Amino acid sequence: MNPDRAGLDALMEITSRPELVFVRGEGSWLEDHQGKRYLDFIQGWAVNCLGHNPPQIADALVRQSKLLVNPSPAFYNQPSIDLATRLVGASCFDRIFFANSGAEANEGAIKLARKWGQLHRNGAYKIITFDHSFHGRTLATMSASGKPGWDRKFAPQVDGFPKARLNDLDSVRNLIDEQTVAIMLEPVQGEGGVVPASTEFLQALRDLTREREMLLIVDEVQTGMGRTGVLFAHQRAGIEPDIMTLGKGIGGGVPLAALCAREAVSCFEHGDQGGTYNGNPLMTAVGVAIFDTLTAPGFLEGVEERGWHLSEGLTALSEKWGMLGERGLGLLRALVMDRDDGPALVEAAQQRAPEGLLLNSPRPNLLRFMPALNVSKDEIDTMLAWLDELIARARR
Ligand SMILES: *Cc1c(COP(=O)(O)O)cnc(C)c1O
Repeated sequence: MNPDRAGLDALMEITSRPELVFVRGEGSWLEDHQGKRYLDFIQGWAVNCLGHNPPQIADALVRQSKLLVNPSPAFYNQPSIDLATRLVGASCFDRIFFANSGAEANEGAIKLARKWGQLHRNGAYKIITFDHSFHGRTLATMSASGKPGWDRKFAPQVDGFPKARLNDLDSVRNLIDEQTVAIMLEPVQGEGGVVPASTEFLQALRDLTREREMLLIVDEVQTGMGRTGVLFAHQRAGIEPDIMTLGKGIGGGVPLAALCAREAVSCFEHGDQGGTYNGNPLMTAVGVAIFDTLTAPGFLEGVEERGWHLSEGLTALSEKWGMLGERGLGLLRALVMDRDDGPALVEAAQQRAPEGLLLNSPRPNLLRFMPALNVSKDEIDTMLAWLDELIARARR
């Protein structure tokens, strides 16, 4: 029984989707309309940090929806105060603006940097970003992104995002001029193929931006909220950026994102920033429940531990099949293959029977793994065993 084609066609075609409809999820597992189960190592693109349908989300939504859903961002509400207080307490940032998506949080970061440039740097507005970076799908965040070909899509671009090379300090220095107000990067490029910025590079960017009176912006939409085994990935490098954006994991699956800034750069004036749903108590109540779970004693240590377990398993697979190794931090990892098998393996994994496996291939020679942060060692071992079979079949 296939899903009704007319029904599928009522949705705008934005990507090639398999002809199945997911109806239920629990932890690391998804179930489709025919009752087939899938082990999910995508998790809504590193979004469902506690897996599918954790009780924390259902409880928070039920409780808060009976109290207050949306008084408007023109008034205070308690869950947004509670979540902002937690984020401030756990970071070097002083002020939080809640948004609905990572792209929207990044738009806010870009606006805030430009505003700061108007106030303190004589109108400097350029923000140096990086080749192969990804910051979202609005016009400005697409312009900030370094995805090949994106500079010609929906032209003309938003001006002012010169591109440097990751982990190449000279390529950054060479782009700086009077108009440069900030440098913006992902601590680990996610969509670019799980490429970490080195600790030395992050520290050098912090020094450089201080020296040249520029801001350092970290896009932690994918790396934040425990994904790499610490709450925020930049903390591994011991640096304190001026601005950070969060998305994905912060809502555990519901639309929530955040723009975090230090007091000295929180320079929006009334009317500069806002949005109908921003900071609504329904989503921020979920954010509080997620935050408290991620920061409970031992949780992040568990992420780090299972990250190593996944890393060891992927290294063993790579050695067995003569691949090029694995890389990543915590539970954001990639297997680098010796050939462009990625899309075929993703397809075969999904079609695997009786149970399927959901994987992602951001580049043809790469598989990316972003399981729930509470994925079990057994589930990791199951995924590795199935992947081994799939590789064997593909290479036979
Ligand atoms: C996913 C992602 C975004 C965009 O977030 P949306 O919620 O899809 O708008 C921005 N930056 C990074 C690093 C991401 O991984």
